Amino acid sequence: MSDLLLQKLFEKSDLADDEFTQLIESDFFDEQLRQLADKARRSYYGTDVYIRGLIEISNYCRNDCFYCGIRRNNYHVERYRLTRNDILNCCETGYKLGYRTFVLQGGEDKFYNDDMICEIVSTIRKLYADCAITLSLGEKSYQSYKAFFDSGANRYLLRHETADTEHYVKLHPSEMKIDNRKKCLFDLKQIGYQVGSGFIVGSPYQTTQNLIADLRFLQQLQPAMIGIGPFIAHHQTPFQNFKNGELKLTLRLISILRLLFPYALIPATTALGTIDPLGRELGILAGANVIMPNLSPVTVRKKYELYDNKICTGEEAAECRHCLNRRITSIGYNIVTHIGNVKECKQQLIK
Ligand code: SAH
Repeated sequence: MSDLLLQKLFEKSDLADDEFTQLIESDFFDEQLRQLADKARRSYYGTDVYIRGLIEISNYCRNDCFYCGIRRNNYHVERYRLTRNDILNCCETGYKLGYRTFVLQGGEDKFYNDDMICEIVSTIRKLYADCAITLSLGEKSYQSYKAFFDSGANRYLLRHETADTEHYVKLHPSEMKIDNRKKCLFDLKQIGYQVGSGFIVGSPYQTTQNLIADLRFLQQLQPAMIGIGPFIAHHQTPFQNFKNGELKLTLRLISILRLLFPYALIPATTALGTIDPLGRELGILAGANVIMPNLSPVTVRKKYELYDNKICTGEEAAECRHCLNRRITSIGYNIVTHIGNVKECKQQLIK
């Protein structure tokens, strides 16, 4: 029975809701699911793993997401923002290490107005013409997104977090609206960005139905990139006493996502590496094909703590790039340093 289910998922890249429920709620076919997902990813991307240099530009945030360690109401956080020159220095270091994608991520910090972001983006564009520039700066207007795009940004990461309205209000204050977040994602797509979305696995109050809604929303959006990671409690948030998301469920969902969106860029996230020392390797084995090492200055890394015990924030952090090379090679995949754009979504490959 479930053999057929996996075969259907592999061949049709879709399942009915009750079939998704069976798959999500059982660990019985995890290994078979993983192998099929790996087969799908190999048919599009071989054993290549793309790397993206993550630059955490600011931990100031006007939002108050209940799960997030840098929410505005966390008064214990020591706030920082990188200057334009700090950011350019990170790019310079990253370029020398082989990075061809820079991801500028931050809290929603009004300090950087559109002109500043555009100036930073266009400078990076001029200096590193062979690189992709990814932004992850939260919800903005269509005009702002368009201005960033026109300045040279190519990709935008904005997880929808949870697609279900009722679940969304349990994770966010009332001024934050899922409809606006979804609108942002469609705006970004329309402008021409390669868009990344995704959700948190095992967030408080999440049900299987919520996860299916996440998959359905992604089917509607057809994003180029899909990032998921386990919920990890932060001790200074309202969710401090909730249990963390599970490794196994996150890996299962990575495999399901790979089979639903075989062409997609799917990172093995830092959160996955935080709940298990081999989490990112297991993520790659489950179908992920992107790693996003931290390129932020070592002095600020500890301050961008979205959740407790985030990895790669210590003194050894400068070694991330080499450490990852070893880790990825050890499981039979290889880190590639080219730009790593998404493969054509509609491309049909022989399976
Ligand atoms: N302000 C940007 C960047 C957010 S940080 C934006 O709105 O997109 C990047 C991601 O970290 C978030 O989208 C969220 O999914 C994840 N995250 C935040 N807190 C987390 C937690 N406690 N556990 C797991 N993931 C978390």
